[in-house]
Amino acid sequence: MVPLVKKCYRCKAVGLTNIEEKALTLEYDNLQHYLQTREDRGLYSALKQQADRFYKVIKKGKKYPLSIRNDLLKVEHNPNKVAEYWCKIPVRAVRGGLWIGIKPYEPIPPDVRICESKLDKGDNNWYLDLVVEKDVPEKMEYQNVIAIDMGIKHIACSVDMAMSKTTFYGNDLNRVRGHYFWSHKRLGIKKAIDTIKKIGHHEKRIANDIIHKISRDIVNQAIETNAIIVLGNIKYLRKRKQQQHRRRMARLLAGFSYYKLIQYIRYKAALAGIKVIEVSEAWTSQTCHKCGERGQRKTQGLFVCDHCGEENADRNAAFNIAKRGLGQCLSPGVVVNLPRTNARIDRNPMMTMEATEHVQ
Ligand SMILES: [Zn+2]
Repeated sequence: MVPLVKKCYRCKAVGLTNIEEKALTLEYDNLQHYLQTREDRGLYSALKQQADRFYKVIKKGKKYPLSIRNDLLKVEHNPNKVAEYWCKIPVRAVRGGLWIGIKPYEPIPPDVRICESKLDKGDNNWYLDLVVEKDVPEKMEYQNVIAIDMGIKHIACSVDMAMSKTTFYGNDLNRVRGHYFWSHKRLGIKKAIDTIKKIGHHEKRIANDIIHKISRDIVNQAIETNAIIVLGNIKYLRKRKQQQHRRRMARLLAGFSYYKLIQYIRYKAALAGIKVIEVSEAWTSQTCHKCGERGQRKTQGLFVCDHCGEENADRNAAFNIAKRGLGQCLSPGVVVNLPRTNARIDRNPMMTMEATEHVQ
């Protein structure tokens, strides 16, 4: 299977001259006028067609970006003093289109196809949301499994099965949540939910950056160790009964974080040709990963098995997810060869944290 991976690069327009800025503004204003009134004051015809295709329902007073067909958009890597990348935007005012310098947040690979993209006007800047696509063949052979458990205390806990290494993510995310949680608490729950919806934007952006970084770290680790990625299915988390009031706040953000994290991992993995499988999380937090018996989650962070002793609860769940992922029927042709290591079950709880895992 050769999946098509799409990616959007937000590019800031740089070095615009007054004349160029005017040409873009004219086109942009003509689009807004056309959308609000259906009167055409001289919008570029292809942009008008795009507007008819995409903008069916128009909200009064809302601004819409110019949607540019891929065949009318050109992007070139041509570094000079002004910009590294250049793109040609079709506008009425400039015959043949207007070349503007753009600055993407990361380099655009050369072997991509340009897709339909959007040009938007911010408060002080113009932005091209450049969409590109690429065929990335999925890898068929792996030497490792990285499994992710998503939880409340840490947004994610990953285990690297080959190295038996555990990584906890999201302490800083909790700090973001915590900060807002406390300031909201003083407002009362009902008010707080209204407020979080309003000021949530800033918080979401901070959380978003953190989640990007976490997903980047996880996928990089998978690239370096040639690992397949197994995720616990988050549906279960949503269903989990949570203590109502205190958790309600966290959930607004948590729901956002879980969803985004899965999305980003899937997407970054796809770009690297790494397979991601999702398994049910049911019972992964109540089952001992060493002996398979039911145990208990004593506190949020601690799992206790009558036979094997204590274990970090997230780590235990992540191992169960990994095992479930390996047990699940993988796609035809996909092979996971984990290096065989000596299994060791140690009843000393301190030792079990370091115990080497044995997986077939
Ligand atoms: Zn056990």
